Amino acid sequence: MSLKSKVTGLILAGGRGTRMGRVDKGLQPFRGATLVAHVMERLSPQVASVAINANRNLPQYQAVAGESPVLPDFIDGFAGPLAGLQIGLQFCPTELLLTAPCDSPFFPLDLAERLYAAMAAQGADMAMAVTMEHDPEQPDAAPFRQPHPVFSLMKASVLPQLDAYLDTGARRMEGFFKTLKVAEVMFDDAAAFGNINTLEDLHRHERTAPTVVAPHATATAAAGPRDADPAALPVDEARRLICERIAPVEATETLPLLAALDRALAADIISPINVPAYDNSAMDGYALRGADLPAQGTATFKVIGIAYAGHPCTQAPQQNECVRIMTGAAIPPGCDSVLPQELAAAIDGDSVTIAANALRPGANLRRAGEDLKAGGIAIAAGKLLRPADLGLIASLGIPSVSVRRKLRVAFFSTGDELRSLGDELDTGCVYDSNRYTLFGMLTRLGCEVIDLGVVRDDPQALEAALREAADKADAIITSGGVSEGAADYTRDIMALLGDVAFWKLAMRPGRPLAFGKVQTEQGSAWLFGLPGNPVAVMVSFYMFARPALLRMMGAEAKLQTLQARATEAIRKRPGRTEYQRGIVSTGADGVAQVRLTGAQGSGILSSMTEANCIVVLHHAQANVDAGQMVDVMLFDGLT
Ligand code: AMP
Ligand code: MG
Repeated sequence: MSLKSKVTGLILAGGRGTRMGRVDKGLQPFRGATLVAHVMERLSPQVASVAINANRNLPQYQAVAGESPVLPDFIDGFAGPLAGLQIGLQFCPTELLLTAPCDSPFFPLDLAERLYAAMAAQGADMAMAVTMEHDPEQPDAAPFRQPHPVFSLMKASVLPQLDAYLDTGARRMEGFFKTLKVAEVMFDDAAAFGNINTLEDLHRHERTAPTVVAPHATATAAAGPRDADPAALPVDEARRLICERIAPVEATETLPLLAALDRALAADIISPINVPAYDNSAMDGYALRGADLPAQGTATFKVIGIAYAGHPCTQAPQQNECVRIMTGAAIPPGCDSVLPQELAAAIDGDSVTIAANALRPGANLRRAGEDLKAGGIAIAAGKLLRPADLGLIASLGIPSVSVRRKLRVAFFSTGDELRSLGDELDTGCVYDSNRYTLFGMLTRLGCEVIDLGVVRDDPQALEAALREAADKADAIITSGGVSEGAADYTRDIMALLGDVAFWKLAMRPGRPLAFGKVQTEQGSAWLFGLPGNPVAVMVSFYMFARPALLRMMGAEAKLQTLQARATEAIRKRPGRTEYQRGIVSTGADGVAQVRLTGAQGSGILSSMTEANCIVVLHHAQANVDAGQMVDVMLFDGLT
């Protein structure tokens, strides 16, 4: 039996959880995830399963825990780590329990293994990590021994001893450990056991962060040349991580066909009939038996009847007989070919002369089931129903379809400088334009929009808006406040209300992005915190929110990229994806060509209205020469 299968992991995120003030430590954004998510990620590979001990913000911890339990203290009064240990031991389904605190995201990946080896060798009840540390004030003094009781592996059977210890009113970990046989394990890397105690610690570590870890994903070192920000996440990776976490809404509704335009099909459309239902003519002409066609010279056929669409001719032509037939009319019995009327050598009353080679036997027939076979999939679930789809479904005689329910998306703008239309534009203020672009983009996507207006840069107002949005919507789109600017409270509040990660993306425009789940007692919603700059809002909406929302809608709608020739040189730095605004047209030689719109600043919306496409300059791509082909995404496909 492997060690891993014998160990349950316990993340200690309990106590009052207020060491950073109002902010719950474990839920702090850190390197693209939350602190607790990082701890989860280091612990998970070492144990059979993980539980989290927490006393506040349980829904947010649950979001990180996934299927695993979040366990509040069993005893009252926020009794510290031992209370967490107690509930952890009560829960522990395996022989051993390994603890790690929620604010230490760097501990060794062989922690369980090394603690266990010592515990087994010494026949101990538990093993604890120890490091040697230097006093930073006295660098020349001898190093001292630093125990790390929160990094311990113990037998689940020590629970009665812990209960007895807690009954005495004592609360200190070290005190409890004195009642047990403890093995100490010396680790070389003291920094690995370091914890993050203050927001300053957090920010210092964030700045030195070499990697980006996504929630519920394995560590992904951001690839990229040296000159790029190594901590920035490549856009493809970000898109993948987002889509991986999001699942389609389950609810469906049945709608009459005419109400289903632009909705996502919830179940395959199975054809109940053959389409066409019967062999019919593709031309106006004469239906006959191919075997009667002349091998050479000519042959004359007698017309014995007429078949119209909707009015079949049931007579079967005999040798050198034919039936006058109209497009769409059922092929008369015995016939297998149709001579288009314009190919007849001569038509005289009810006789038709046909030359050799005028017609191939079997020609100009539409066979039953050639478009769709009865029982076959006519349209697969996930299709966004376009006009052609409505037509196809109608051709099967199906009057109503099952579609996913509409996605509810709440959105608001943040910023003290924003003025609503109709207000005076005071000095230093701008009209809120993002809400209008967002409204347009969401409506075009077929979402039900919930406009929550402009929210001031004020923690209470932001919290209220996010709560309202999470209660009402499936997804929340905000603009502004996700960069590291001083007035950007959005970051803290988002982190407080959910498992929200702040990503630095290797892209331009639109570097910052917040993504995660906001949870309240009433409900939860996926949050996309877009940057504030108007062009960045649109680009990051199209590149990240759009695919995610489509996935939530249960829709498949991959964007098509086309190639066009750059009419001018384009500067591009490798190591980030750049989305430039362009105008595609057809060149003199018939090849698509693209030129950039004027100023490309991320606040310059006129570049967006002038453009008809986005020029995609990929992560690894460098400067583009005039005449080189580049990828473009047409706005017509996006909107
Ligand atoms: P922020 O990300 O909040 O720092 O905003 C970045 C820039 O975008 C600032 O110049 C803001 O004034 C501008 N901005 C933010 N939100 C909006 C909005 N809703 N409409 C227009 N401009 C905005
Ligand atoms: Mg702002």
